[in-house]
Amino acid sequence: MPVFKPEYLHKVAYEIYVAKGVPAHEAEIVASHQVKANLVGHDSHGVIHIPEYCERIDKGHIVPGAPFVVERESPTTAVINGNWGFGFVVTEKATRMAIAKAKAQGVAAITVHYQSHIGRLGDYPTMCIQEGLIAMITADSGAGPKAVAPFGGRARRLGTNPICIGVPSELPGPVLLDMATSAVAAGKISLARNRKQPVPLGWIVDKDGKPTTDPNDYGKGGAILPVGADQGHKGYGLSFMVEMFSGLLTGLGFGIDPKARHNDGVFISAFKVENFRPLEQFKKEMKEFAEFVKTSPPAAGFSEVLYPGELEYRTELKRRKEGIFVEDETWHEITELMHNLEVTAKVGKP
Ligand code: NAD
Repeated sequence: MPVFKPEYLHKVAYEIYVAKGVPAHEAEIVASHQVKANLVGHDSHGVIHIPEYCERIDKGHIVPGAPFVVERESPTTAVINGNWGFGFVVTEKATRMAIAKAKAQGVAAITVHYQSHIGRLGDYPTMCIQEGLIAMITADSGAGPKAVAPFGGRARRLGTNPICIGVPSELPGPVLLDMATSAVAAGKISLARNRKQPVPLGWIVDKDGKPTTDPNDYGKGGAILPVGADQGHKGYGLSFMVEMFSGLLTGLGFGIDPKARHNDGVFISAFKVENFRPLEQFKKEMKEFAEFVKTSPPAAGFSEVLYPGELEYRTELKRRKEGIFVEDETWHEITELMHNLEVTAKVGKP
């Protein structure tokens, strides 16, 4: 597997998107989010998606440079129509709007519809916590293709319906609970397939509802399970509510429309800590709280307790130093794209 510096992968992504007609500032945003996902260890949301996003541009499912339209607005709320722009670009702008409103009014809640994939959710609450705000974001694919079977069912009825909550603190890395409400993000199944590795038992069932470790069974009519294993009713309930926020409240709807293009409906809310208690006091106590939780002696098979987001923070520090692994199959697809778009020379050597 080749290993690359993040700056190189950023250039690869940037030049490919610019060659596909994406405005430079948008190509910059998309490349940054994708490489950041690789950096924090979520390769399922990193450069592996470059070929797929290019295909979506070709099909008109992603519209580079699409207008960002505010359909409804109040001092604390807004409804955004992304007009099928890159989700990274639209949701970053919507998050900046939520930050401005929450800083002025104390709270803010914004829905976004008609945009493409937003990638790793953690990036958006991270923007908020830097401004002294607690933030929550949820995403869902509306009537787009489904991935997850509801608890007690075996056919796909839900998206992987992720939720992320970010909190300001004095800790060096961001406190971020960033998770799919399914046993696993769908991208991790594609990654296992590309790496020709089995998936752990409990991630997916095959078309007959039987547990399987073969990632190929997912593409043959299988489904991902909700998070929680034998307590999957809780993960399922969480997924149901994420879909309410990002599918129904956004007006994207639910169900399965085979013709629906991939979209991420988004609900983002932000709360100004200062309106509840002094920010510096709260940040200090958040750090002390995480440190207290971490004093729990490790259980059998564990070396320590981590706070939400700590693993990603450590992975980023490591990968900035050691580089990012990209599996051969993904790298082959990307180099082929660079060749076809005649940007190989422009990108240069790693
Ligand atoms: P995950 O299971 O790897 O991590 C979930 C959370 O658990 C994270 O907050 C992480 O910090 C924490 N965590 C992990 N290991 C831990 C440990 N040992 N101790 C304590 N905490 C720990 O994440 P996932 O559910 O596989 O999701 C991966 C990514 O996929 C996320 O960034 C998510 O936003 C993204 N995603 C995006 C979409 C989309 O449509 N845009 C859909 C699904 C998932």
